[in-house]
Amino acid sequence: MTERVFNFSPGPAMLPEAVLREAQRDLLALPSYGMSILEVSHRGKAFTEILAATEANLRKLLDVPAGYQVLFLQGGSRLQFSMVPMNLLGDLAGPQRTADYVLTGSWGKYAVAEAKREGTVNIAYDATATNYDRLPQPGEVKLNPAAAYVHYTSNETIQGVQFPDDPQFGPAPLVCDASSDFLWRPIDISRYGLLYACAQKNAGPAGVTVVIVRDELLTRSPDRLPGMLNYRNFATEKSLYNTPPVFGIYIVKLVTDWLLGTIGGLAKMQELNRAKAGLLYDVLDRSNGFYRGHAQPASRSMMNVTFRLPSDELQEKFLAGAKALKLVELKGHRSVGGIRASIYNAMPREGVETLARFMEEFAKRS
Ligand code: PMP
Repeated sequence: MTERVFNFSPGPAMLPEAVLREAQRDLLALPSYGMSILEVSHRGKAFTEILAATEANLRKLLDVPAGYQVLFLQGGSRLQFSMVPMNLLGDLAGPQRTADYVLTGSWGKYAVAEAKREGTVNIAYDATATNYDRLPQPGEVKLNPAAAYVHYTSNETIQGVQFPDDPQFGPAPLVCDASSDFLWRPIDISRYGLLYACAQKNAGPAGVTVVIVRDELLTRSPDRLPGMLNYRNFATEKSLYNTPPVFGIYIVKLVTDWLLGTIGGLAKMQELNRAKAGLLYDVLDRSNGFYRGHAQPASRSMMNVTFRLPSDELQEKFLAGAKALKLVELKGHRSVGGIRASIYNAMPREGVETLARFMEEFAKRS
């Protein structure tokens, strides 16, 4: 039998084993339908039920209030970097055609680059100078009162910098790129105008992106936009404006079933995630500077733990030693270097414990 490893990849990332087993078991034919999920019509009964159940699961897990659409799109989060400004800047012109961006890492920077093609961007906070190692302190975010929305990234996957809760930046609708921490904890959706997340970290496979948007913001979408880039079309057609990513949505259903059933909801998931991250940060903090964390302690991510070793040589040895224990995909992003352990919802505690033990032993013998 093929053996599974502990995969610390930043995404696509581990999925719960129970989800993979269920998908495998039902791949030839969905129970009572006699057809594979890969073969069914997106307008047929089987998928209609799956789509409705996936939306219902997300609404339940996140306690989505009335007045919000839950949409399933394609194009990844990178497409959202464009769709957000295209839709939310609407028909605004001149100095009104502007949005605030809070920059706590590389992905926020990429979002800004796309928003600049659509309008004026005010960088309300920028942690570039210290290679994005911290969140803003109170008073550091300089908002533009005319901004059409304020965008931030709840978890910066590359730097490992995460907002611990839902921030409040000002009166403009809050837009969140939640790609790498979606479903890691309960969130207060009513605080958001729009929240988006590609699925391939915490929610499913690559290919589907969830967008949760307040109804009233949909009136901003200009008719001149290409149909596929207009949120209103996906809201009106209940995510069936074109053929949606059927298999991806099906896996999101299985993952959200797992979160609701096996895990018992997002409060419980958060507890488990905090405990897992705590194991690694404890080793880091007790290593007398052998491991140096990238993010400042108050800005640390519970999803992506980023740190460096004293030399490149030791880092290579570390990666090789980890691999021998079936701990893989630990190399950090080239822009930060070092090690990055991505420990999303589906990473079992056992994987994190094994890594924490290995880190301790490695520091001792080096
Ligand atoms: N935002 C964040 C925070 C991400 O981590 C990623 C993917 N690593 C993206 C955006 C881009 O997502 P995609 O590749 O699905 O376009």
